[in-house]
Amino acid sequence: MKFIPLMRVNINEEDIKSVETVLRSGMLVQGTEVLEFEKKISSYTGCKEAVAVSNGTASLHLSLIALGIKKGDEVIVPALSYIATVNVVELVGATPVFVDINLDSFNIDTSKIKNAITPKTKAIIPVHEFGLACNMSDIAKIAKEYSLFIIEDAACALGAKENNKHAGTSGNAGSFSFHPRKAITSGEGGIITTNDSKLANKLRTLRNHGISVKNEKVEFTEPGFNYRLTDIQAALLNSQFKRFNKQLKKKNEIATYYLEYIKNDLVTLPSQYKEKTHSWQTFHLILDKRLNRENIIEKLKTKGIGSNYGAQCLPLMEFYQKKYKLDCSLNFPNALHAYNHGLAIPLYDTLNIEEIKYIVEEINNIEL
Ligand SMILES: *Cc1c(COP(=O)(O)O)cnc(C)c1O
Repeated sequence: MKFIPLMRVNINEEDIKSVETVLRSGMLVQGTEVLEFEKKISSYTGCKEAVAVSNGTASLHLSLIALGIKKGDEVIVPALSYIATVNVVELVGATPVFVDINLDSFNIDTSKIKNAITPKTKAIIPVHEFGLACNMSDIAKIAKEYSLFIIEDAACALGAKENNKHAGTSGNAGSFSFHPRKAITSGEGGIITTNDSKLANKLRTLRNHGISVKNEKVEFTEPGFNYRLTDIQAALLNSQFKRFNKQLKKKNEIATYYLEYIKNDLVTLPSQYKEKTHSWQTFHLILDKRLNRENIIEKLKTKGIGSNYGAQCLPLMEFYQKKYKLDCSLNFPNALHAYNHGLAIPLYDTLNIEEIKYIVEEINNIEL
């Protein structure tokens, strides 16, 4: 059997043709393909507006800026995520306040959010970790009580729902990524969903040098970025999006198979929740403490299976460790545990049944 990588990018001939069409048209930057993709995402997620940007980090960054988050403000972030979630908070000069996760969902522990709120708190960035939607109704209640903005980091959550409400549509803004590690990809790419049309207009201005069209006249109303997505990228996304639902269904079938057939006392499987539809961006196991995770990754590699840790314990990363000197084992034991003992295994629609069975067999073979 060929090596089974942790992730396989799935670009077909039709995707390539769609890019060729854009290249031959001569209209390369933000244009009709971007507009079409924005419409697709707003209709798919059920959100009023979608604003495409150059990547998922740009979408978080722009959302914070558009909502006016700045120096002196505090922003609540989960202690477990990808580093971009917290970097953007630092980059606007605000202070991140970490909250531990729940080890069943790997999402922010909503019961610990209130304790982290101070008079300086301006926003919460819940992360739908590994593609499982957070308890957004609880988070929305807290945000309302304390007048906080919500920016959902839905980078992994295209297709994820809670009570049929799509991830990224409950807060002020939702941020998605189209990095090759994510469900559909344009190499780099991102989009912001929002139900607030005023915010959407501000985001559109800010992603494009501060341009605003007033009475058909172009004006520069504030200093902005160049965070545009190109039509080359949007064409790739539009083309892949046609098979997205099919992919999601296949991924769900594989996850169901894993959940049924992975049986090893040294391995804890991800939890499932009745009210939630998982996007299965990442199938994330927790290994028994007695196992050395790095050795397991190496061993799986020699068996022909790619795997890796799932997400970072953010306050432990060098910059944050040095700046805030937080004791992770004391304050964020769950995030630390997931960072040290988590294992992401391959899950994507192009896995065939032999590969799936082989992965299950090798996970079941893990021993002390
Ligand atoms: C991938 C990811 C990002 C960053 O997205 P990019 O498109 O790579 O900038 C942010 N947050 C989370 C949780 C992610 O998984």
